[in-house]
Amino acid sequence: MTHPAVRPALPAQRLAGVASSPVRDLLALVDKPSVISFAGGLPAPELFDLDGVRAAFDRVLSAPDGRRHLQYAPTEGNLDLRTHVAARMTARGLPTSAADLLVTTGSQQALTLIAAALLDPGDVVAVEEPTYLAALQCFQLAGCRIVTVPSDADGIDPVALREVIATARPKLLYLVPTFANPTGRTLPLDRRAEVASLAAAHGMWVVEDDPYGELRYRGEPVAALAAQAGAEEHVLHLGSFSKIAAPGLRLGWVRTPAALRPALTVAKQAADLHTSTIDQAAAAAWLGVADVDAHVRGLQDAYRARRDAMMAAMPATVPAGSAWTDPDGGMFTWVRLPGAADTATLLPGALARDVAFVPGAPFFAGRPDTATMRLSFTTHTPAEIAEGMRRLSAVLRTPAGGSS
Ligand code: PMP
Repeated sequence: MTHPAVRPALPAQRLAGVASSPVRDLLALVDKPSVISFAGGLPAPELFDLDGVRAAFDRVLSAPDGRRHLQYAPTEGNLDLRTHVAARMTARGLPTSAADLLVTTGSQQALTLIAAALLDPGDVVAVEEPTYLAALQCFQLAGCRIVTVPSDADGIDPVALREVIATARPKLLYLVPTFANPTGRTLPLDRRAEVASLAAAHGMWVVEDDPYGELRYRGEPVAALAAQAGAEEHVLHLGSFSKIAAPGLRLGWVRTPAALRPALTVAKQAADLHTSTIDQAAAAAWLGVADVDAHVRGLQDAYRARRDAMMAAMPATVPAGSAWTDPDGGMFTWVRLPGAADTATLLPGALARDVAFVPGAPFFAGRPDTATMRLSFTTHTPAEIAEGMRRLSAVLRTPAGGSS
């Protein structure tokens, strides 16, 4: 006897309203060699320390205790790795010990763990506007209500934040204070101090997401939000190897106030028990022998030239009346076209000319500014960037409906 097939319900309610990332969808589209893509936030693969990473894997697997690195391991992460990372963070002005750190499978997982450990459905999460798309997805998936805090050219506005705290009582504030994705902006020191003191005064968690902080091409470093007075018990600081080593390693970490560690560790156990043992061991070995500072300086030199190439081409690429950010570091510039343009409608024309960008709308949790777009300058050489900007100018400077 056959039974009629009954399909299980699909998908979970939680997923309703969480859009697929247009950035990741776009990346699939532009994966052909002729495209000059300013769309992805991808580090340049030719700058990966391939030999150093290969040697690190080889070294840990060839050691007498090599089999240990293929075994299950503690949830908090490899102690050598945490010790190296803590020393680098301390050297950059944020005193950190290995015990303060939980290793995560990319810093993206740290966002998921934080949402699982700290946020209930209906909790309010405040974000700057625009902000990192996959963080929005993560908080939406957790069933949170997202409120936006107005930002200006320097990032989040503390006066506006004070008002949002008074009216919406956010449990958590999410920020990318240094070389933000998508804007490239950096929050000045006085605002960091104000945000930390507001967090302490109102019992609000702050997530300082910092995957780009080491990629500075100009000016002096700004002390982390987590290093400000009042931050000790309120700020979670996220770091990542994705931009300084390689994103394929999927290695990140979260520096947490002590009170949060047990909850985050339980969330991590439930998610994946621990991050890949062998990848952590190899990264620790790489940090142990590579001249990481020299490697980062090499990245800074290469990316500085790429940023400069994009900035030099910008005035001839965008229509008169456009505005764009000139970032001190990171991977992105944020462009606003004049008037009520809709960059999403320009994308097919750009793809037809083998150049790609990301329309800005998905980076807004509130009402989107459709005239915006994000351009990444890290993946191509200065000469390719110049050519890509020429292709883009043909699209952006063609009147709507016209052809060229
Ligand atoms: N946060 C921000 C602001 C990012 O831009 C990214 C990467 N695009 C991530 C987190 C995730 O990085 P990871 O590769 O460490 O998961």
